[in-house]
Amino acid sequence: MKYNEIFEKIAAELKDYDQIGQVATYIPALAKANPNKFGMYLVTREGHSYFHGDTDETFSIQSISKVLSLVYAFKLVGTDLWKRVGVEPSGSPFNSLVQLEYEQGIPRNPLINAGAIVICDILMSELKNPYQDFIKFLRSLAGNPNIDYCKTTAESEKECGFKNSAHINLMKSYGNIENDAEEVLDFYFHLCSIEMSCKDLAQTFMFLASGGKNPVNNKRIITAQETKRINSIMLLCGFYDEAGEFAFRVGLPGKSGVGGGIVAIYPDQYSIAVWSPGLNTKGNSSKGIKALELFTTITQSNVFGPS
Ligand code: GLU
Repeated sequence: MKYNEIFEKIAAELKDYDQIGQVATYIPALAKANPNKFGMYLVTREGHSYFHGDTDETFSIQSISKVLSLVYAFKLVGTDLWKRVGVEPSGSPFNSLVQLEYEQGIPRNPLINAGAIVICDILMSELKNPYQDFIKFLRSLAGNPNIDYCKTTAESEKECGFKNSAHINLMKSYGNIENDAEEVLDFYFHLCSIEMSCKDLAQTFMFLASGGKNPVNNKRIITAQETKRINSIMLLCGFYDEAGEFAFRVGLPGKSGVGGGIVAIYPDQYSIAVWSPGLNTKGNSSKGIKALELFTTITQSNVFGPS
């Protein structure tokens, strides 16, 4: 069966899916999302694209940006990065403060809030124009010059960001934040606010399915070894405290965001993005996970071997 046909089959099967979940409500920009939106977009290593549904519409990528900021920081500082952030799954909600205290200000991994805030601090230390440089990096990966921050979302994040303030202040007290806390948080909130479509996400993440090279122009983004590290972090830490469940059901490295987006990669084969704004209780797109579970089952593509 061709990918387009598989997408149609999945969409038909999930048309009346009754566990669609609730859209995120902690900021107005996310609360007004339409829970009935649904899109799936796949890019193969050969550059072929397959899609279904609302794949051109942009949405807030939220925590998915944490992988891209991690890649950028890794490119800039190399293995020194791991002195400031760990690589262990947290098994806790994305904004839990408890482990940070135990680990003396070194976040468990770069995909929880505390870890992503440290990554923002590193980018601010390394780059003259972090906002411009980072968005330029994303635009070049996606091949889309229109990708941008959303000012309204970033402002809302700031107004509700009490726990993120707690994280950064705790890390600063342990000496793991170099720059002004307010400035780092502002950059972090902007990263959460970036808007992309399923198409953009699938294109952007394709380098992680291609050993670190952008297959469109053959440009190397990171080495094959660095790619292995990023993909392993996605597999173990990409879905809040539901990473085990995602690996168990879908079997691919990936990352979700509370805007309802999920992107996942199958090494050497494809990158796939799904969007459905309804979230389960762990903050992951409920229908998105189900759709990916069906997809990897039908195509027998997962990193643990044919199923
Ligand atoms: N913007 C959220 C926060 O920092 C994170 C969103 C997400 O996990 O997707 O609280």
